[in-house]
Amino acid sequence: MFSLIKLPRVFSVHQVPRAFQEDSIISGYRHPRSSATDCVLSLFQLTNETLNVWTHFLPTWYFLWKLLTVVFMQDVWSDAYSWPLLVYLLSCCVYPLASSCAHTFSSMSMRARHVCFFFDYGALSLYSLGSAITYSAYVMPDAWVNGPFHTYYIPVAVFNTALCTTMACYSRFPEFQRPKLSKVLRVSAFTYPYLFDNIPLFYRIFLCVGEGCTVNEANSFHVYHTLLAFLTGFLFATHLPERLAPGRFDYIGHSHQLFHVCGIIGTHFQMQAIEVDMKRRRPWLLAHAPAITLGGTVGPAALSSLLSLGIIYVFSRPLFPGPAPRTELRKGSENEVESTHHDATADTEHTAKLVLLLWCASPLQHLNGREAPPWPWLPVSRTPNAIYDFGAPRAATELTALTGEEPAGNLEQHPPSRLGCDACPAVDGSVTGVEH
Ligand SMILES: [Zn+2]
Repeated sequence: MFSLIKLPRVFSVHQVPRAFQEDSIISGYRHPRSSATDCVLSLFQLTNETLNVWTHFLPTWYFLWKLLTVVFMQDVWSDAYSWPLLVYLLSCCVYPLASSCAHTFSSMSMRARHVCFFFDYGALSLYSLGSAITYSAYVMPDAWVNGPFHTYYIPVAVFNTALCTTMACYSRFPEFQRPKLSKVLRVSAFTYPYLFDNIPLFYRIFLCVGEGCTVNEANSFHVYHTLLAFLTGFLFATHLPERLAPGRFDYIGHSHQLFHVCGIIGTHFQMQAIEVDMKRRRPWLLAHAPAITLGGTVGPAALSSLLSLGIIYVFSRPLFPGPAPRTELRKGSENEVESTHHDATADTEHTAKLVLLLWCASPLQHLNGREAPPWPWLPVSRTPNAIYDFGAPRAATELTALTGEEPAGNLEQHPPSRLGCDACPAVDGSVTGVEH
């Protein structure tokens, strides 16, 4: 029966475009123009992405079970005190699900890869805000409740989600020209909101002395979560252990898998800590803390989600072929702009113009190579369609030194079994192993 299912073949690092290559991962790559079916089938064979998917897909169901347990076992609809927990648990379901989908379908095309990980970053920002909402409601030390930091904590956390989604999405574009900038942006996009959200926790656990420090049995879970969070960040930033032995951890044990596992275990401890704080502190918080409202829980989460979706749209828009809005707007012809949207109604045309203006004001418009970047310290694309460029593959000599093998062919010899994306950029000379 298994012979009836033809699993997609996998490739070496020198056979895939540079944009798909992972640091110190030599083998196990999927075809960069896989069909959706091939992407799903690849979950049942060993590739360098298989465990990335499963390490987040299975915990999604565990977190969903936790959410449903709270929904069905507690009187959540009339008990406003539990609403922050619901928002947090929902965000805990969303981020591993988005991540597993991103890792599953990221090999469909260059464009799909960008968009998949944009949603991954947006979901992580939502999780960050979900954490902040529960920290504000249950974890804030007694001494800070109703203080100025507590007052501005959630608004700043919402702002951080927009900022960090933007930073993470943008970090995908200077990957070739300025890889260090890309890395710093992406690591900062994940660590900065974590550090901000945890300020009340760090104060409570490590700095607070005397009364109002809120010492209870949740503290040990908070410490476990903090340790795992730092380990997660360390793995993400260092690419260990595969950097020490390129090729050894391609399928099992590379840093991204460990990053996923540590992140999930950390979330598990964070969840336990929050539940303990929530139960132990309920009488005191209900008597002293600000009233919990929909506007203070679901509201910020909804606003943050809308902001992230808008940011993802702005970053995704240049990836899709279509009219060049900036050129048209610069020509100043209202008719030309409208003619590009001749199928739309008058209302949607108006909305489209607003979105185009937003896009033109964004730092991304230079990625089509039409304009210098508005931020002078950011890189200028060299080619007119740099965003579609797969990037040059590694030099054969470099790969030979890394793997001890000679490059063994290119993707032209191994077309995708099913062409799942006709609109994808063509696999041209840039992926044949010829450096340019
Ligand atoms: Zn991941």
